[in-house]
Amino acid sequence: MVRTKKLRIPPKHIYSEINATSADVWNTCLVLMDFYQYQRGYPHAHNRFYFGKDCPQWMQKKLAKRFPLHSHSVLAVMKRYFAAWRSYSTHKRNGNTDARPPHKRKSFMTTRWNYTAIRFDKTLLGNSLSLAMGRGRKRLDILLPTSFDMSCADQIATVDLVHEYGEWTLHFTYRFDDERPDVSGDGVLAVDIGEIHPMVTHDGEETLIFNGRYIRSLYQLRNKVNAQFQHLISRTTRFSRRYRKLVQRKWKTLNRLDRQIADCLHKATAKLRDVCVRRGIATVVIGDLKGIRKRMNYGKKANQKLHQWAFSRIAWLLDYKLKAVGIKVVSQDEAYTSQSCPACCHRYKPRHRNYHCKECGFTFHRDGVGAINIRKKYLGQVVPVAAAMIPPRGIRQTPRLTQCVSQTR
Ligand SMILES: [Zn+2]
Repeated sequence: MVRTKKLRIPPKHIYSEINATSADVWNTCLVLMDFYQYQRGYPHAHNRFYFGKDCPQWMQKKLAKRFPLHSHSVLAVMKRYFAAWRSYSTHKRNGNTDARPPHKRKSFMTTRWNYTAIRFDKTLLGNSLSLAMGRGRKRLDILLPTSFDMSCADQIATVDLVHEYGEWTLHFTYRFDDERPDVSGDGVLAVDIGEIHPMVTHDGEETLIFNGRYIRSLYQLRNKVNAQFQHLISRTTRFSRRYRKLVQRKWKTLNRLDRQIADCLHKATAKLRDVCVRRGIATVVIGDLKGIRKRMNYGKKANQKLHQWAFSRIAWLLDYKLKAVGIKVVSQDEAYTSQSCPACCHRYKPRHRNYHCKECGFTFHRDGVGAINIRKKYLGQVVPVAAAMIPPRGIRQTPRLTQCVSQTR
């Protein structure tokens, strides 16, 4: 199992120099490939690889000891180059005529350090990350914040130096052994990922509604801030001093909001994972999200709101968080699950907060019905559910603490 963690670091001039060197390696790969093809005389209109099997080895020898980088960092760029070739070849085989082999020269490129090049040092100021820059060269030392978790430092597989949206970040990749703790129960819990509430769950007895008001407010603020900055930017000359300053400020604000949104989603999904563990859930059924974007077309403004509702992101977060504790995750087609009556299968589209069946009188919170039906569909139950259901419990995130607070409706 692989996990990635990001860490923002204060900018330094040397970082761009290092990433420029990585780009140099890439550009050299381009030149070397031309040379290789010229030398071997391989035909250009060929559906398979243009180069022989010995090409990576040959290129590795040519690249060695040419750049002020650790040899494994150079190798990482070369691997990326050949991966681009492979993806080009797959695209071409699949009939994509627009596909081109890697050809663009780069100015900057993410640098990767393998675990062989990583060391942690204890300094007077705290722990520092020491990255090797090749034999005989000074190592790159980056001071880590005190909050950095050192307990699984020996599981770090790679460190990437990434420049994204005007900020420098380190991406740590951890490799864990697949430890599957025993799941004590055999319960089935269904999750309905929806427009109004990010998650509504049902496990046969209890219905939980995760309130999405706080996340929605963050998304609304993000849209607003984005629009305001975009308006200001549109009045400036492109690439002028003011333009650059505004763009920088825009990304700084948007990045902060994105981190808040990510934090919020992480906390909500982690809360659900804890609920599953506590209640002995072995299988989690997630409503299939494939049709969600097609089905929704409620006008421009509503679409923006709904599309951003990180549906796939929630599903993805749930997927890896649940699998990490040994819970099976399956997806289930959710057609008509929000319209059918769980008790008598009569279909109607609810207009209000509550679902009220005219045929049998079944009444329940509208969003809970979707989750109940997804669970029923997965279990293949045609038989009605219990007539007297426990009313749903709401889980709300407060803006200040962003902690999940339970509340009964
Ligand atoms: Zn009914």
